[in-house]
Amino acid sequence: MTQPGGHVVEPGPRPSLAVRGSTQRYPVRRIYCIGRNYLAHIREMGEADERDPPIFFQKPGDALVEEGRPLPYPSATQDYQYEAELVVAIGSAGLGIPLAQALDHVYGYAIGLDMTRRDLQRAAAKAGHPWENGKAFDHSAPCGEVVPAALCGHPSKGALTLSVNGQPRQKTDLSQLIWNVPEIIANLSLLYRLMPGDLIYTGTPDGVGPVVPGDVIEARIEGLGAFRAQVGEPLPAGAA
Ligand code: MN
Repeated sequence: MTQPGGHVVEPGPRPSLAVRGSTQRYPVRRIYCIGRNYLAHIREMGEADERDPPIFFQKPGDALVEEGRPLPYPSATQDYQYEAELVVAIGSAGLGIPLAQALDHVYGYAIGLDMTRRDLQRAAAKAGHPWENGKAFDHSAPCGEVVPAALCGHPSKGALTLSVNGQPRQKTDLSQLIWNVPEIIANLSLLYRLMPGDLIYTGTPDGVGPVVPGDVIEARIEGLGAFRAQVGEPLPAGAA
């Protein structure tokens, strides 16, 4: 049977995020992430050489979870962890973007959670395998509304915090980023042509830890506001 639009199976919607101050939405293409971008987190993980530069990895765009949507506890893990991060929303395309022009390619900013199956990530790292199973799973990229830079400017300092059930767990300042936002854009655009709709999760500070069903995670970034998510029950095995 032919589907509307000429696809042989249902293509599904393109993920998108709400935009503060607008009825229009921000369409999401790719989700890039930075690993090892706060020294205190490198130290708590205890795996990398502190002098190693930050690294890039990706999550699928449809791993996005908007505020207020279900965040099911993922399959195949016993150690599901939060990571609060500043998220950059790219507004215009660029390959090899010069540092001085990097911020011109930013549409806005958001608060995101780089949800992680830490046990699978650690096992992959130990075996020298890619991180996908630990990082790029379904529902692994909760993200709040996009705040246009026209409203919030380009935050380079200010508090980033995360609490679980009201208990403080992560606290840093954006000025502690090893690669700041322009440096991230300049470096990432040497590897990939950045496009409108690309999100960049900029890395997490120390204080990461596990959550279980029922936990309420709240991340805050000075100048952007707050993002909340409640961990749900696992999806039933055999579900569509
Ligand atoms: Mn992260």
